[in-house]
Amino acid sequence: MIKLEKNYWKKFPIWKDVSRWDWEDWKWQIKNRIRSISQLEEILGIDLSSAKKVEKVFRTGTTPYYLSLVKDLSDLSNPILKQILPSCEEIDPQIQSEGSFDPFKEEIMSPVKGLTHRYPDRVLFRVTTFCSVYCRHCMRKRIFLEEERAKKYEDYIKMINYIRENPAVKEVLISGGDPLTLPNRKLEFILEHLSKIEHVEIIRIGTRELVVNPYRFFDDGLLELLNRYDKLWIVTHFNHPDEVTDIVKKAVRNILSTGTPVLNQAVLLKDINDSPNTIENLMRSLLHVKIKPYYLFYCDPTKGVLHFRTDIKKGVEILEHLRGNLSGIGIPTYAVDLPGGLGKIPLTPEYVLEETDEYILLKSPYGKTVKINRHNSDIINNHTKKQEDLCL
Ligand code: SF4
Repeated sequence: MIKLEKNYWKKFPIWKDVSRWDWEDWKWQIKNRIRSISQLEEILGIDLSSAKKVEKVFRTGTTPYYLSLVKDLSDLSNPILKQILPSCEEIDPQIQSEGSFDPFKEEIMSPVKGLTHRYPDRVLFRVTTFCSVYCRHCMRKRIFLEEERAKKYEDYIKMINYIRENPAVKEVLISGGDPLTLPNRKLEFILEHLSKIEHVEIIRIGTRELVVNPYRFFDDGLLELLNRYDKLWIVTHFNHPDEVTDIVKKAVRNILSTGTPVLNQAVLLKDINDSPNTIENLMRSLLHVKIKPYYLFYCDPTKGVLHFRTDIKKGVEILEHLRGNLSGIGIPTYAVDLPGGLGKIPLTPEYVLEETDEYILLKSPYGKTVKINRHNSDIINNHTKKQEDLCL
């Protein structure tokens, strides 16, 4: 976990006169977000003219807080900077030729505008196209092309009515854009109606505000809503250990005090977090602040994002490393979301090396092998010195 210095934002000349009162106000963070490459050039003191044509296609945006986490402003390989700085690769027709703006057919599988019904028991409920940070790797990058706006109340009502009329729907994932950029009164409207639908058992809020604007969770109005509606879960999106700060820790404490669990979905991103040590550190940092690692996703085939993809086996190697080095509560499921809306599948390291009618040959996380009799579970042969090794 990163401990931020007192008045850490004042190292940036542009924010040197910003008071703590303003800086720690989530609305100030959104109002004062950086929205252009020219602004980034001014703050970072570097020439980014080559990336300017990108913002004509895909929006740019970051909160001051998120940018202030960058350790060395001149280092363009910084993992936080890489998630917010537009790159020419996003619009390179050769690199992006295989991508799709809607690889999971969210718009097609949409019985009501804004709502996707892909799995029988779950729906995706998109409430806004606005985000306080525009992550370059976003799987829903098509929102960067749309107007920034929250949906209207009448749109929400149509989506809510659809859920009310479909008792098979047990879970609603509220997403966007970022739903927690909405004002509390709009959130309250949505949560009040969804909570009253008896067959809805779980309401998940997918948000990156905890990463990019954790001050959102110091807002008493929001905490009161989280406290009032007990079907809620927060699912957030940390990708790198440098994002997990002591402010995040306080924010998570506030969320947990309302009885709302917090899970994390990370995405495997080339040159940002695609190493076993970085992911291990990320998972350790998340556990430290009491966020449960949930998924590590293989990067989706979204147009504008393909340059972030790694070899698909990279994630399996990382999982193999985690299994030997980290407690089970810190190990996420590594999964690939199959294009075409075919569903998510977990990818796991191979621990069963051989199977016959008589025995099964297993590999331990430390590379040792154990042969077990299938009829009585006796160990037939193993290369471990002690029986206890099996329990590691
Ligand atoms: S906050 Fe979420 S929806 Fe918004 S750009 Fe980032 S990943 Fe995409």
